[in-house]
Amino acid sequence: MAPGSAPKRVLTAAANPAPALQSAGASGATEVKPDSAKMQVSALRSGTVIDHLGPATSFKALKILGVGADATVLIGVNLDSSKLRKKDILKIEGRELTDAEMNKVALLSPQATFSLIRDFKVVRKFRPTLPDQVEGLIRCLNPACITQDPRVTGRFHVVTKAPLKLRCHFCERSLHENEIEFA
Ligand SMILES: [Zn+2]
Repeated sequence: MAPGSAPKRVLTAAANPAPALQSAGASGATEVKPDSAKMQVSALRSGTVIDHLGPATSFKALKILGVGADATVLIGVNLDSSKLRKKDILKIEGRELTDAEMNKVALLSPQATFSLIRDFKVVRKFRPTLPDQVEGLIRCLNPACITQDPRVTGRFHVVTKAPLKLRCHFCERSLHENEIEFA
């Protein structure tokens, strides 16, 4: 062990003196790069933080994740963001999203980032990449499409990622970002 090679710590609050209320216990070990959301991650004990959600999409995200009325959730809507102009943030206590769930949210908001938190620490930071094909998550809007039969699994090709545009594999109907309905 070489002396002086202390583990690297990212002190996220360095630029702004933290209010006394926020400093107890939760600082020092997170690996989140400093950004505009840095102070708010520590508010969650265990669960998932979804950052960089598109503005005013957080309620839709809660719906597609099936987060119920009994869940403990912190919601920030239309916050100032340096990356996006405005963004939403969701913090869901006590729930770690699966990859499939994160991919679902990414379809709603492709630039979203996810942090899994355990004991106030970020154990995984994740940004899903949109797949070239999406199976089963999304409903086709064409009433004549074969996928209206519940035995047929829907399949969409991702035509463009920003803005998101999908095309039904079966009937070729296009779906734009704001039309997406989750099955
Ligand atoms: Zn279709």
